[in-house]
Amino acid sequence: MPGAACQEVRSTCPYCGTGCGVLLRPDGQGGLAVRGDPDHPANRGQLCSKGLALGETLGLEGRLLAPRVHGQETDWDSALDLVAASFRQAVEQHGPDSVGFYLSGQMLTEDYYVANKLMKGFLGSANIDTNSRLCMASTVAGHKRAFGTDTVPGTYEDLDEADLIVLVGSNLAWCHPVLYQRILAARGSRGTRLVVIDPRRTASCDQADMHLKLRAGSDVALFNHLLAALRAGGALDADYLRHVNGLGAALDAAAAEDASVTGLSEGEIKAFCDLWIRTEKVVTIFSQGVNQSTSGADKVNAILNCHLAAGRIGKPGCGPFSVTGQPNAMGGREVGGLSNMLACHMDLDNSRHRDAVQAFWDAPAMPDRAGLKAVDLFCAAGDGRLKALWIIHTNPAVTMPEADAVSAAIKACDFTVVSDITAATDTARLADVLLPAAAWAEKDGTVTNSDRTISRQRAALPPPGEARADWDILAGAGRRMGWGAAFDYQSPAQVFREHAALSGLAGGFGLDFDISGLSSLSDAGYDGLAPVRWPVNRDRQGGRFFADGRFFHPDGKARMLAVRHRPPAAAPDRQYPFRLNTGRIRDQWHTMTRTGMAPRLSGHLAEPFADIHPEDARRLGVQPADLLQLSSPHGQAILRARITADVQPGDLFVPIHWTGETASSARIDTLVAAAVDPVSGQPESKAAVVAAERWQPAWYGFAVSCSPMTPQAEYWAAARTGSGYRAELAGLAPLVDLEAAARVLFALPETEVQVITDRHKGIARLALFQDGRVMAALFTAPEPVAVSRDYLAGQPGSCTAEVLTGVPAAGRPDPGPVVCACFGVGANTILQAIESGGLLSVDEVGAALHAGTNCGSCRPDIADLLARRPFRQAAE
Ligand code: SF4
Repeated sequence: MPGAACQEVRSTCPYCGTGCGVLLRPDGQGGLAVRGDPDHPANRGQLCSKGLALGETLGLEGRLLAPRVHGQETDWDSALDLVAASFRQAVEQHGPDSVGFYLSGQMLTEDYYVANKLMKGFLGSANIDTNSRLCMASTVAGHKRAFGTDTVPGTYEDLDEADLIVLVGSNLAWCHPVLYQRILAARGSRGTRLVVIDPRRTASCDQADMHLKLRAGSDVALFNHLLAALRAGGALDADYLRHVNGLGAALDAAAAEDASVTGLSEGEIKAFCDLWIRTEKVVTIFSQGVNQSTSGADKVNAILNCHLAAGRIGKPGCGPFSVTGQPNAMGGREVGGLSNMLACHMDLDNSRHRDAVQAFWDAPAMPDRAGLKAVDLFCAAGDGRLKALWIIHTNPAVTMPEADAVSAAIKACDFTVVSDITAATDTARLADVLLPAAAWAEKDGTVTNSDRTISRQRAALPPPGEARADWDILAGAGRRMGWGAAFDYQSPAQVFREHAALSGLAGGFGLDFDISGLSSLSDAGYDGLAPVRWPVNRDRQGGRFFADGRFFHPDGKARMLAVRHRPPAAAPDRQYPFRLNTGRIRDQWHTMTRTGMAPRLSGHLAEPFADIHPEDARRLGVQPADLLQLSSPHGQAILRARITADVQPGDLFVPIHWTGETASSARIDTLVAAAVDPVSGQPESKAAVVAAERWQPAWYGFAVSCSPMTPQAEYWAAARTGSGYRAELAGLAPLVDLEAAARVLFALPETEVQVITDRHKGIARLALFQDGRVMAALFTAPEPVAVSRDYLAGQPGSCTAEVLTGVPAAGRPDPGPVVCACFGVGANTILQAIESGGLLSVDEVGAALHAGTNCGSCRPDIADLLARRPFRQAAE
């Protein structure tokens, strides 16, 4: 944006639900400098490694720049005419439930609002669901059952004021790093205790006072035991319980629970309960480990039961706290983006709510029952019930359980539209129509973070090519379908005002989500809107809910639920003996369409992996760096084995981020069964069962190149580097002609080749040069290739003659794998500093190298490096 080079734009980070504020300074050449916004209440200037690297994710490589119909570029009018005609035709011929939208928590509230209005009010179906179904639908269900609405009671300030924080199924240190650092700051200043409840040892355990390694899926039993202990310990709050129904039945269910199913010792359970009971100010943070379960909603209610029974909710430093995975999952919940919601926390099955919304929208049709939830939506696409499907900013061919079947379903659907920023996703490749959408830095609108704070996301760059905002695309389709007046939006501000006005109806029904105080914002007011926590109406702005004991069920009371432990849907057996846990890694986001573009974010963990316990590895004959094949009734994957006691025997942990674009066989959700929670419809993504065995290729390889590679091997995983690309490779058939294989892999025809082979050891090394510069290099061996990957990753484009040694020349530094992504500090650099400087603590490493001094999420890794050193043991 020429001329705007010095203007800083206030916006928000597009990744996790922390909702950090960012300041964006365009460089005038399509780039941005990014820093944390010191005035944003969520982060107060801090950013994690992903937020800090946002400026590296803006390249136009792979961007979708014009609409495409069946692979051919076309203009917007033609594309939207086809979309509108196809959806109208499906509705006319097969009824409203023959169409569906599948949306994303990455969308802005304004985009979400227009999509929800178009589907529910005008196409006349509730078949609109979102990838938030995979993220926090169980929380929504739990909140509604307990509170009468989907209300997050607490605020981030509660984390500053709590004396005990319990993380349940949440690796906050990696998944919400800025919140985790906020907790550590409170720990430093007021001694906040930290308990982690997770089957796996994660980075969040590093500072924990207690880590309860419970069995997968047994959270209900643990919290039922806590509820029973609250009664036994005289810790029920009789005063507060006047506002709560269901205590007796919940206590009876808790008393009948057998806590031994948790796999925890009596001592561990007692210590946890004692700590919880004697600490008045307790916040229980929960996330995907709770939600992604066939008993997810019950887990949520088991947690809420304890806070309600003890009256520890809505007060400073107290409360249950769901942290959302996506930047605007909360905004999606507010507009009614799930198939079982209406809008503004109103209910589809409430005729007063339906009539009010229909009148407000002047809508011709309004469904009176819930639509298809995500898993059912794709089943309907596959079996022909759904005739037209619109997927926006999400990649279900990778992220849905039974992902191979979902890919086939999308392909089988008569008419599929995908709106995205890139055509290079597993889902976009299946679409009939591709619509180019504006990306994060080009979009204007609002998002709501985990503590109900609405923030403006502001465009800092113009959209490239023909890309458009999603609200604009959806409104254009709505007008072409014949509803010109209802979708005659000119700006996101206009959409926001309408959404805010509609929320006033919800407020009128006595519901929680009411931002009608913002419904008369001028365009300038919308442009300048500062972060604000809802509700915002005549009577109230922000704050906590429920301290006053007023809830949203018709009788004004909360409800405790009688819930009992249910094991995960599938149990390990002889055929599938492992329990598969899936999750995020520190420096990547979802399917890596953006974070995968930032070399420093790929430096930490550049390859998909499976964590396996040493006992299991020994039994399977798996050595470090071997490849592991996982299989389930639904699919298979090949991943690098990491042998670690962080997982329990019989458990495996795998990351969710790799796709068909970045690896040959690491789409983890191909393995996961589509078993769902009966209440929330959320899939059980953390407790599938799989078989595992060592995968033995004929050769292993490692390659670097200045340009993208086209691997042909059975196994490959590619990542960006600062100088190009890197790839891990392995093949089943012996490599008989290395140069021919390299020519296919690198597609660099005008290059000179240098080859070294050791036939005795079966090792081969090849490099391609142009004008004396290294263009590419390939190393192969019968065992996992032993070279300095991080050194080699930096060699394409250099004039290094000795690249085939695979290691830096004597005296030249080899930083090793990235540990601190914020400052680009490698493991070898840290180890060397520890050794040469006699450093004994993470803080001393930080003082010497800056590593770990920004977002802090690498501090557990630094602690591990310190613990590894022999001189450290001697010093102790
Ligand atoms: S914690 Fe990191 S990923 Fe999450 S919003 Fe903040 S900067 Fe973005």
